Amino acid sequence: MTVLVKPKALADAGVREFKMLIDGKWGDAAEGRTLERVAPGHGVAVSRYPAATKVDAERAIAAARKAFDKGPWPRMTASERSLVLLKAADMIAARADELAFLDCIESGKPISQAKAELGGAADIWRYAAALARDLHGESYNTLGDGTLGVVLREAIGVVSVITPWNFPFLIVSQKLPFALAAGCTTVVKPSELTSGSTLVLGEILEAAGVPAGVVNIITGTGPDVGAVMTGHPDVDMISFTGSTGVGKLTMTNAAQTLKKVSLELGGKNPQIVFPDANLDDFIDAAVFGAYFNAGECCNAGSRLIVHKDIAQDVIAKIAAMSAKVKVGDPLDPETQVGAIITPQHLEKIVGYIASASADGATVSHGGSALDLGSGQFMSPTILSAVTPDMAVAREEVFGPVLSVLTFETMDEAIRIANSIDYGLSAGVWSRDFDTCLTVGRKVRAGTVWMNTFMDGASELPFGGYRQSGLGRELGRHAVEDYTETKTLNMHIGGRTGWWMPASAR
Ligand code: NAD
Repeated sequence: MTVLVKPKALADAGVREFKMLIDGKWGDAAEGRTLERVAPGHGVAVSRYPAATKVDAERAIAAARKAFDKGPWPRMTASERSLVLLKAADMIAARADELAFLDCIESGKPISQAKAELGGAADIWRYAAALARDLHGESYNTLGDGTLGVVLREAIGVVSVITPWNFPFLIVSQKLPFALAAGCTTVVKPSELTSGSTLVLGEILEAAGVPAGVVNIITGTGPDVGAVMTGHPDVDMISFTGSTGVGKLTMTNAAQTLKKVSLELGGKNPQIVFPDANLDDFIDAAVFGAYFNAGECCNAGSRLIVHKDIAQDVIAKIAAMSAKVKVGDPLDPETQVGAIITPQHLEKIVGYIASASADGATVSHGGSALDLGSGQFMSPTILSAVTPDMAVAREEVFGPVLSVLTFETMDEAIRIANSIDYGLSAGVWSRDFDTCLTVGRKVRAGTVWMNTFMDGASELPFGGYRQSGLGRELGRHAVEDYTETKTLNMHIGGRTGWWMPASAR
């Protein structure tokens, strides 16, 4: 089912011109170049951002360094920082429609989904505000007479925050408020394809009372500015979300100065379904897991591992429901699957389907690009008869493409699930508690959903095993990630246990 695209209203609205934020001042890139964003669902230019280069990145890092070493933000009380974050959360909620509109037109995601993401993001800012006031160390009065050990949590310093295009506002919100809660200062670089909402966030943070230099936002490409942000000696930590390939580059670059890195990377997430599962619930979750955000989602449930006895029934039911998915104009409130991020990416998705077919997979539904008059779209696709060795079963396609594999025993299902390099998330479907728990414990993934898929909450840590990443975001330890641990080891009333014997005194 498709919803036709209406690009005219967007074209009439014109291109929104953005500036970037360095040391409390909004301006252009030093070289004066810009990057233009064409809406992937509408084929018209909608945004223009400064194309920063090394010199801009260095200026932003210097501003963040100065703000950390000399500015008020790290020296405020936690209560003061928390109030600023709460104010920012309210302002995000107040400007949610504008922010959702930007994420929708720049990334091609459906507007209804973009609005839901903004609601989630505001909640994360509130959660971080609460955690800011609970950041604490430990003390030990058990180390012997006259001693006291105090373990402090100190802000780590300047953090480079680098984000991808698939959830522009949500992902910066999984990082920035926690870094700010800890007292860090930051240089933020959104994806060059979807920088609009992050730049508006800069306005919000200024108005909420974040001092100049604490949040610097620069726009540009990875090679131009990302590389400086990950290698510069004045940066103390990198918080990166993106592809596993660029994550590895980031870590290599950071290794030269041994920076702390937090990496949220790719996924190829299995949904394992047993014959006793509630199939009605499962079919809906399978379709949602595969096609949500057009499959351009690190958490996509893109690998279905289904018991062979129910495979034909499951494939038929998913195909029938796939035919009802509304693909089309991201601005239409009814749309469920919007546009594909770039024409090049659409080609890559179609290429994966061709190579899977050549390897022996069957296209059970969809399988091709959709022409809706403008922009680039992909039909929801089911590939069956997929085997664990095929590229489509091992690599991130990052499109609305579901690969179906089969199993006969639980051990085999777990083996297939664990047979690839990724380990971000997984789903298991059975009415039997033992089955769910056994699979849940044995699948090597950062999150395992049982009889549901892709639910989240600010309280629940999120991140990956193996090549899906390093570290966790969200959850009650999220602020601690942006700190260093310092031990104060104190003696009260004179030193005990002299090294030199008494005869030598
Ligand atoms: P990407 O790796 O191409 O880009 C991510 C960011 O890194 C962008 O801002 C980009 O400009 C920047 N970058 C590119 N080259 C760089 C370099 N050499 N040095 C520093 N920065 C550089 O990823 P993408 O295509 O924007 O996003 C899709 C990927 O992100 C997928 O692999 C997806 O699974 C992953 N992702 C992971 C999560 C998670 O939480 N695990 C969430 C969303 C997306």
